[in-house]
Amino acid sequence: MKKNNILLIGTHNNGKFREISKLLSKKIKKISPKSLMIKAPKETGKTFKSNSELKANFFYEKSKMVSLSDDSGLEIIALNKKPGIYSARWAKKSGSFRKAMLKILNIIKNKKNRKARFICSLSIKLSKNKIITTEGIINGNISYKILGSKGFGYDPIFIPNKYKVTFGQMKISKKMKIDHRSIAFKKLKKKLKLYKFFI
Ligand code: IMP
Repeated sequence: MKKNNILLIGTHNNGKFREISKLLSKKIKKISPKSLMIKAPKETGKTFKSNSELKANFFYEKSKMVSLSDDSGLEIIALNKKPGIYSARWAKKSGSFRKAMLKILNIIKNKKNRKARFICSLSIKLSKNKIITTEGIINGNISYKILGSKGFGYDPIFIPNKYKVTFGQMKISKKMKIDHRSIAFKKLKKKLKLYKFFI
């Protein structure tokens, strides 16, 4: 069995770092790129998969450590799947997540179709020539108001299917059991077992 007690979590987003850390075994020492003074690469990919692989490759090359990265975002059907891979950049351009959410609520205020989904592509770079990627999706609807203050990003406007509350109103422990990231994680853990590599 391979010993893998150290892992670089390739993200500069504190909310994501926290959530990903909680999904990993307590036995693993989690390193952030910030602590190694490694900056984030430019996300030049056109898909969630290409961006998560680009990040895992980049952090592996910079740190020479097994590196785990994700690329995730919110696709809103009435907005032709936007903001999608530009979810973080939309918020930055708007000035804050709150402003970005208000903008979205305003643009789709008269739309009947409020369907949306969070997508997460998760990649782990194990060695120079080995990278594994999985994808998780959770479907839901955009709420009519900003509701709740838990979680991060667009959580306060996303109501997952089969629930009546937004991710922002849900306990973080609950959200983490059902969200796109945990779905991608479960798939990744299954694949890694084949390599006797445990996270
Ligand atoms: P990335 O770092 O480029 O993958 O940025 C993903 C962005 O998508 C985040 O900054 C959030 O805006 C959004 N996002 C991804 N996952 C979530 C989530 O679980 N809740 C809320 N927003 C999310």
